[in-house]
Amino acid sequence: MVVQKFGGTSVADPTAIRRLIEIVRTARARDGRGPAVVVSAMSRVTDTLLGIAAAAGSDQLNEALPRVEELRERHLAAARDLVDEPEQVPLITQIADHFDQLTGIVRALAVLREVSPRTLDVVASMGELLSSRIVAAALTAAGVPAEWVDARCAIITNDDHTRAAPLTSETNAALGRTVVPILDSGRVPVLGGFIGATLDGHTSTLGRGGSDYSGALVGAGIGASEIQIWTDVDGMLSADPRIVKAPRLVSQLSFAEAAELAYFGAKVLHPSTILPAVERNIPVRILNSWKPEGAGTLITASRSNGGYEREEYYIQPASESDGPGRATRDAHTTTRIVRLTGLASKRDVTVIDITSSRMLMAYGFLRRVFEVFERFRTAVDMVTTSEVSVSITVDDRRHLDAIVEAISEFAEVSVEREMALLCAVGDVLRDVPELSAKVIGVLEEVPLRMISQAASRRNITVVLRQSDLPHAMERLHEEFFR
Ligand code: ASP
Ligand code: MG
Repeated sequence: MVVQKFGGTSVADPTAIRRLIEIVRTARARDGRGPAVVVSAMSRVTDTLLGIAAAAGSDQLNEALPRVEELRERHLAAARDLVDEPEQVPLITQIADHFDQLTGIVRALAVLREVSPRTLDVVASMGELLSSRIVAAALTAAGVPAEWVDARCAIITNDDHTRAAPLTSETNAALGRTVVPILDSGRVPVLGGFIGATLDGHTSTLGRGGSDYSGALVGAGIGASEIQIWTDVDGMLSADPRIVKAPRLVSQLSFAEAAELAYFGAKVLHPSTILPAVERNIPVRILNSWKPEGAGTLITASRSNGGYEREEYYIQPASESDGPGRATRDAHTTTRIVRLTGLASKRDVTVIDITSSRMLMAYGFLRRVFEVFERFRTAVDMVTTSEVSVSITVDDRRHLDAIVEAISEFAEVSVEREMALLCAVGDVLRDVPELSAKVIGVLEEVPLRMISQAASRRNITVVLRQSDLPHAMERLHEEFFR
């Protein structure tokens, strides 16, 4: 049985929800039971709710209340469109109750003129409470028997409001009490993602974008065979489509590869949110709810258990072969090329060079350098060293001047802006040692400022001028992803 999580654009309006219904119906027909459904708030609703709370907290009721009414209308319109009488009546009542509560809170915030994290969670939770109510009723109305689950009874968290951490064993027990019996009875449980409650029953949220996390928690808790993340793109791409003309869809990658790519800015899904699934070895698939027949991108704990065959990835360059893709093992006459998993990049990177001919390799020097970054709470992305210098990249420039001044007290510092990080990722880098050299070789005419391959050996990262990034990325893509 699968867990299907639908993001905000996949529940944005009645048209999107009708697509969702067909996707659920198909999974149900295939598996004979389930699926368990987790939904985000309708698109942009969480942003609006947080804006409403902020406006109310600064006593701007005339701004907050009309926005509440707009949200009310949007949800009521969807409910009326998707669910007919007589089932429409209880749904409309539930929606009205949520909005009456919201209006009450908004008025109270305006009086108190402050918004605590705990109250903010109550406001933010409305989006998912509403969308899940509507989706559950719409499924039932369309002949797919579904039942709404209050996520606050199913996902149990600590009390770190606005970014609460789930309590695993409590959550698993709660899922066993709420979601599992519905599945066992042959119906489809529907719950809002992103939200939960603390042990003493206060509404909490898992942090922005948290419904993927909810999907993974539900999947891990009920032992699903697959967790599907339904969104509005085909899956993970081999490179940023704004930079590379024709990126490929990555059909499968390992969790570690996904983590490396996300760290360097690949969009779609943050791997840490699917950790509960990966730990239980449950595959996670990213799918496009506009094109449900697509294969999407499959993320598994390790790529090697899913069809990664080394030989398959050797192809000859077109110039030397009589047909693309012909495998060969003759190293003398051919260049072996291996396909990587993905490219990621980060713009607006600043390189800081720190030079000290006397001191550098003395013990304690690097500690002094990094203490400065720590003092100014600035995270470092990449570090390389030589006998006389250390180069460090940062992307947060807020405290750059102060950092430079502090380091200047014991070393020479120079700063180069408008640089970029380009990162090639693939577990295959571990298996094919010559590949790193190949990656660098492909970039031969591009001046590289820094090169690094970390211990994981599944990525090789270079720093280059931002203006060279598009060309460099195209070159790598052409060579390793064609
Ligand atoms: N609705 C929440 C947000 O916008 C959670 C989610 O959609 O994942 O952050
Ligand atoms: Mg989302």
